[in-house]
Amino acid sequence: MTRRYGDICCLLVSFFLSCVLLPSAAAQSCGAQGVAVQVLGSGGPELQDKRASSSYLVWEDGRARVLVDAGGGSAVRFGESGAQMSQLEVILFTHFHVDHSGDFPALIKSSWFEDRKRPLPIYGPEGNDFMPSTTEFVADFFGEERGAYRYLSELLVPGEDGSYKLQPHNAAGTPKPVVAFHSGNLAAYSVRVVHGGVPALAWRVEVGGKLIVFSGDTNGEGGLTELAAKADLFIAHNAVPEGATGVERRLHAPPSVIGQIAEDAHVKHLVLSHRMLRTLGKETQTQTEIRKRFSGPMEFANDLDCFPVR
Ligand SMILES: [Zn+2]
Repeated sequence: MTRRYGDICCLLVSFFLSCVLLPSAAAQSCGAQGVAVQVLGSGGPELQDKRASSSYLVWEDGRARVLVDAGGGSAVRFGESGAQMSQLEVILFTHFHVDHSGDFPALIKSSWFEDRKRPLPIYGPEGNDFMPSTTEFVADFFGEERGAYRYLSELLVPGEDGSYKLQPHNAAGTPKPVVAFHSGNLAAYSVRVVHGGVPALAWRVEVGGKLIVFSGDTNGEGGLTELAAKADLFIAHNAVPEGATGVERRLHAPPSVIGQIAEDAHVKHLVLSHRMLRTLGKETQTQTEIRKRFSGPMEFANDLDCFPVR
């Protein structure tokens, strides 16, 4: 009897464990078949939102093909997602605020332990007086002379031995969408968006015939509506509530503006991410403002959420 009781206990414990473990197992199967976007970071810069900062993975048939942004905390989520740095074909940055780029060197260091041979292209905005360009940003970490992590300069410096090279590029911030990267059935288009005085891009990833658009941080001005036209999935940033003014409004789009862009662009599915303390808890108000303009499916993102693109 004792033995049998023990067996039942074991069964119950393993059943309970499998239930507890199910979410991470499910997360690792994101994009196993077809195209999907996994949210690595659904938060903003505040640690108290208990979310990783901005970052997204585009999966196709079990491979992580594109990483968009790499905010703080996203490196841990990358590992939790089951992705490998050696799978990535390109990294796209929307801009270089810390909450979009802070974990970049951690991801690159992790790739050191993987078997990557081919170059890793990296695209992001040009610079200005306040922000580095993408080539400067990468060199600021890994440059041979002045890079903070110059001990890893073989990743960047031609001729130095190493398993693979980073290939940073500055994407022109044009008012109309232009293709920045193209390889096989994968292409990435960028357009200039307005995010205060920070050089910023929105990205459209076309993969396997699906269109996925990442707004990045923007107040809604610029070419985002054109870039997002007929997107199968549109990920927009819910960084400010309706009624925001001043600096907040110059940097970010309130729900009414997001809803209008989603409607004008005829997007098929809207996901709201970059959730901050000032918008968390206001989901009903946010949804009401968006619903006045856009009636398609909409959801709020959480870390490791997986959105299949159909
Ligand atoms: Zn920003």
